[in-house]
Amino acid sequence: MYLYNSLSHKKELFQPNSPDVVKMYTCGPTVYHYAHIGNLRTYIMEDVLEKSLRYVGYNVRRVMNITDVGHLASDADTGEDKMLKGAKRENKSVMDIARYYTEAFRADCDKLNIKWPDVVEPATNCIDEYIHMVQTLLDNGKAYFVGGNVYFDTSTLDKYYVFNDHDEEDLATGVREGVEEDTNKKNKNDFVLWFTKSKFEDQALKWDSPWGVGYPGWHIECSCISMKHLGEDLDIHCGGIDNAFPHHTNEIAQSESYLGHKWCNYWFHVMHLNDESGKMSKSKGDFLTVSLLEKKGYDPMAYRLFCLQSHYRKNLVFTWENLDNAVVAYNKMVAKIAAFKDEGEVDANAFTELKQRFVKALEGDLNTSVAVTAVYDVLKAKCNDATKLAAIADFDKVLSLNLISAAEKLKKQQAEEAAASADPEIDALVAARTQAKKEKNYAEADRIRDELKARGIEIIDTPQGAKWRKV
Ligand code: AMP
Ligand code: ZN
Repeated sequence: MYLYNSLSHKKELFQPNSPDVVKMYTCGPTVYHYAHIGNLRTYIMEDVLEKSLRYVGYNVRRVMNITDVGHLASDADTGEDKMLKGAKRENKSVMDIARYYTEAFRADCDKLNIKWPDVVEPATNCIDEYIHMVQTLLDNGKAYFVGGNVYFDTSTLDKYYVFNDHDEEDLATGVREGVEEDTNKKNKNDFVLWFTKSKFEDQALKWDSPWGVGYPGWHIECSCISMKHLGEDLDIHCGGIDNAFPHHTNEIAQSESYLGHKWCNYWFHVMHLNDESGKMSKSKGDFLTVSLLEKKGYDPMAYRLFCLQSHYRKNLVFTWENLDNAVVAYNKMVAKIAAFKDEGEVDANAFTELKQRFVKALEGDLNTSVAVTAVYDVLKAKCNDATKLAAIADFDKVLSLNLISAAEKLKKQQAEEAAASADPEIDALVAARTQAKKEKNYAEADRIRDELKARGIEIIDTPQGAKWRKV
């Protein structure tokens, strides 16, 4: 499989360190609020990556953190902790907030068919690991203790901006306008590994440490949680593009300084979902969640298809119109599949040919939009229906759009409707009501409707004429 690697800025043949297992790490959510559908775009694409790797034959072990402490609201180390902000907003404890939004995130993942990673570790579970890494960095002269906090010393690195497409001045958050400079830092890019003193003294969760009672910085958690479960050599690390700097840059700095060797070979970044006014953000008041989409009548699968229809390395703009188009596409696909008859033998040659197109799309830097086109190719292929159904069921191991089950559901519904409409007496009464209405004999029309109602039949007026159903 070829994947774009943010470290080298090119597509590379993916080769894991060991043929036995791909070690995959994904930055998890900060559980201070619901995930917005932009966050979920990233998790959907990471899910497709994991499933694609499995599909082409790899065994994958995937680890994800849950940030329940230490993620500051500003890129610099001066902002307020997001968890604390969430707790204050809802007048609850930080742990309650973390528990509630972790569950909410899991429910969103379930609705979107995002597989829960093999290991999901809350940041607050790994304090000993952070203390050990921070102490080692101090012992190795890679970190320093000043003003009550431990900082990573970026001047000890040969190269700090490893994803080197950044404008260094732009990224110098320590001196960015509007961000207060932390005068304890020796270098503008140094970052906090462990806090005991911060402007925000009311941090709810604190732990004892060799440097006093305090709490970890945000970046240290991903390095330690990854190493705890995946060891010293990581194959692939994923996240949204905003994580590349400073979060992933700092993860690499501290991990490689701690290990004394290269840590992770491939960096996979998903570009953002934006709304028409720009970046999606939770601070913008009402933001888009899966529950909100559902409330408006959208099937989460339509949103998943909307994401799959575009490449993960392109920004994607969310509009209701675009989502509506995905709904139409999804329903059409399902209706076509529902019309297939599961009869006969699967034609192995035809199946292999269809599958090749699909695999080629995934292997070409996870081109999900071409992979979706491969489904359309199946729908109009010349082979028999059994082969088509087998190919779609196979592709859906990666796409996870519930294509077969949604088609089954539709078939059942259509069968029920057909059975229900096979009642000539009711049909005649409905026709009589239509005729009465046409003749403006509303009293008679109402009488018939009431009679049907008493028999448990509801009339539904549609642009195609009156229909009925049992209630
Ligand atoms: P957070 O909960 O803020 O730590 O973010 C969770 C994940 O969502 C991270 O991988 C972010 O990089 C990613 N993310 C944040 N905003 C967006 C967006 N608008 N579109 C896609 N991914 C995003
Ligand atoms: Zn992370």
